[in-house]
Amino acid sequence: MLNFSVGPVMMEQETLRIGSEQIPYFRTEQFSETMIENEVLLKKLTHATEASRVIFLTGSGTAAMEAAVINIFNENDKLLVVNGGSFGARFKEICDVHGLSAEELHLNFGETLKSEHLEKYDRKGFTGFLLNVHETSTGILYDMNLVKEFCERNQLILVADAISSFLADPYDMSEYGVNATILSSQKALALPPGMSFVLLDEKAQERVLQNKVKSLYFNFKNYLADGLRGQTPYTPAVGVLLQLRERLLAIEHVGTDKTIEKVAYIAQDFRTRMKQLPLELAPGSSFSNAITPLRPTGEITADRICNYLRDDYQIYVCPNGGSLSKVLFRVGHIGAITIDDNRKLIEAFLDMQKKGLL
Ligand SMILES: *Cc1c(COP(=O)(O)O)cnc(C)c1O
Repeated sequence: MLNFSVGPVMMEQETLRIGSEQIPYFRTEQFSETMIENEVLLKKLTHATEASRVIFLTGSGTAAMEAAVINIFNENDKLLVVNGGSFGARFKEICDVHGLSAEELHLNFGETLKSEHLEKYDRKGFTGFLLNVHETSTGILYDMNLVKEFCERNQLILVADAISSFLADPYDMSEYGVNATILSSQKALALPPGMSFVLLDEKAQERVLQNKVKSLYFNFKNYLADGLRGQTPYTPAVGVLLQLRERLLAIEHVGTDKTIEKVAYIAQDFRTRMKQLPLELAPGSSFSNAITPLRPTGEITADRICNYLRDDYQIYVCPNGGSLSKVLFRVGHIGAITIDDNRKLIEAFLDMQKKGLL
């Protein structure tokens, strides 16, 4: 099996080995030490400020998106949400469910965020800004310097979902002026799904402490307090957190720059090789290294390509949902995949072409 999806992704041998072990009891000094180490390393790899804290939430990335929004904002806020695809739309949905005032900055398919888009929202009374650094449904990577300037100019609290860009594209929480960064275990961290992480800078922590949250499980106040001694209020995905420490140490050892370079190299290799195929890059100009969004140019629809790859070659790529399901699919470049794996994928495409299936 080869998995070129965007999560869960292929895992390293050492991650798999740790995953095969028994799960220890976690209310122990030893586990607390692991968690404190996880916090230090996550802060370091995201370039968070010294005073930042990490919330370790057991739940998928969406749980962290929702929890971050309800802990940081309330009904007095006016939020601007960048909606360039299904993950941007999810932020808006979260705001709507919780009765938070949120306006959408809608981008067309393949369109990137430009200063012209943002200027319209200057001095309009917004207090918060929500975006996905990489809109995983289209592959578009947003310009964080542009976002930073806009948020500084308007004094907005900036919440960035960096789930699919972290470790695939450069990310610097301090440099981008991000107040809260959302991460998840199953993307480029290449861990099993189940854990998500919210990094809060001082300003975001202040908001969390002052806010009233109508949730028990997702109330960050308890996580902040228990986190001081390396614990979480409720049983976390202990096994994933043990795997996390090993991964973070390994990434720190290699360096984030080199880790990102490897993803960029795998992506570039694939994008060069695919030129021989009846597939074209989806519209857009600023793509993340994490995925390549592709449009079939022949008769066959995107969803059928994904099905053939899965059924005939045991290769997973990512179909798109909704209105894009027939016209777009995505090949991921994150996780433990190699140039040789790219070669196998291209061979499968060529074989499909030979059989008249592409
Ligand atoms: C994967 C992803 C998520 C999280 O999705 P879950 O299925 O809830 O883990 C959130 N935002 C982005 C940009 C993603 O790529």
